[in-house]
Amino acid sequence: MRTFISFEEAQKIVLSEAPVLESEKCALDCADGRTLSGQVISSENVPPFASSAMDGFAVRSSDFVRQGQEPGQRQRQEPDQGIDRGTSGHLSFEIIEHIAAGVVPTKPLTSGTCARIMTGAPIPAGADSVIPRERAEEVGGRVRFSGVAEQGKHIRPVGEDIGMGSTVFSAGTLITPPVIGMLATLGIHTPDVVRRPVVAIVSSGDEIVAPDKTPGPGQIRNSNGPGLRAQVLQAGGICSAFEHCPDDPGAIRRVIESVRGADLVLFSGGVSVGDHDYVKDVLGEMGMEMLFWKVKQRPGKPLVFGKLGHTLVLGLPGNPVSSAMCFSMYAQPLIRRFLGQNPTPEPLKAFLTDDIKKVEELHYFSRGFAFQDNEGTLKVSLKGPQGSNLYSSVVKANCILHLPAGKASLARGSAVFIDRFPWSDLYLA
Ligand code: AMP
Ligand code: MG
Repeated sequence: MRTFISFEEAQKIVLSEAPVLESEKCALDCADGRTLSGQVISSENVPPFASSAMDGFAVRSSDFVRQGQEPGQRQRQEPDQGIDRGTSGHLSFEIIEHIAAGVVPTKPLTSGTCARIMTGAPIPAGADSVIPRERAEEVGGRVRFSGVAEQGKHIRPVGEDIGMGSTVFSAGTLITPPVIGMLATLGIHTPDVVRRPVVAIVSSGDEIVAPDKTPGPGQIRNSNGPGLRAQVLQAGGICSAFEHCPDDPGAIRRVIESVRGADLVLFSGGVSVGDHDYVKDVLGEMGMEMLFWKVKQRPGKPLVFGKLGHTLVLGLPGNPVSSAMCFSMYAQPLIRRFLGQNPTPEPLKAFLTDDIKKVEELHYFSRGFAFQDNEGTLKVSLKGPQGSNLYSSVVKANCILHLPAGKASLARGSAVFIDRFPWSDLYLA
């Protein structure tokens, strides 16, 4: 078993064990937050037919001439607002058809005719321009227009948005409300998505009671469990079990038996070197292949990772900060890998506002607060005291500030990398 390895090595080992999960069908009404398992290629043009972008009249632009131009002579393309708009070559046009959205036109336009047309309705044969209703004046079944008609104006061409055969989404795309809208447009009503990973959460510790209980002497409420469950759901996993077990090898064994079918088991607590930290030993006795224990990092040094059959097990240290930050650095990338998403989105570069001292051999995931200064430079500072029991700084932080191993101090102004929390309100201009 590897021990006291670097953060980079530990994250690599974790990710190397996570396969992209199988594909399944999902109805659009429950697809938000899922991940596309394959690329989506459009088998259709969007829009599928040329249609009007305005309520108005479909016309032939060659019917409109400027002073001194012969009818049918090509118009120069000019904005609507021009002074020299010219006039209609015909005093008035005959309205030969009314084309509402959803109606198929039947009468091709000939010179001197037009069709009343509504937004989204198909352009009739012979028409190449639409004049908005605001520029039309109807008199006795005929219509006069102010200004000229420009070829193609107010017409949405076939395939303007999406061309047939084009790649619309790549595999691993997170399905969001606009993605759902686009899939619906393309007629993909049961997209192929990656199965969600099934994650079991086990909070261990004799001192832990449920949040709805009043702790007795020496007891505290379980904060890791609910926090981890929310992180799992936000990352796209399913929480299949939410257990608490005391620091008792028999109880730990029973709870492990009950969660063996999960893709991932998250333990919190009981993985360090305390007299009552049995989780790692029990997992070992039950045949878990121990892939590493202890990482050169702060917080979360006693992190354990192993494999029990097909089930991956992450033993997160119990301190609330360690639990939340180790989830962000290991479990979240692992869930994203299960889902076929990019496990570790590009970090952002920021500049330290203060001098920082640290233990040289450890990689720090500090709680940071990043902001853009008046010049638009991204700056970052530590958010409050960094003790791994001080959870309020996790609440106040908007990013994870990486302070790499191999440095005992970092000077103010040094460039560092930060990761946004998924829930962070750090928006950059
Ligand atoms: P451990 O990793 O079991 O040694 O626990 C380290 C610290 O984290 C101890 O102070 C525990 O009381 C605390 N702790 C462990 N599990 C939880 C939990 N689920 N919620 C809140 N604090 C916890
Ligand atoms: Mg404990």
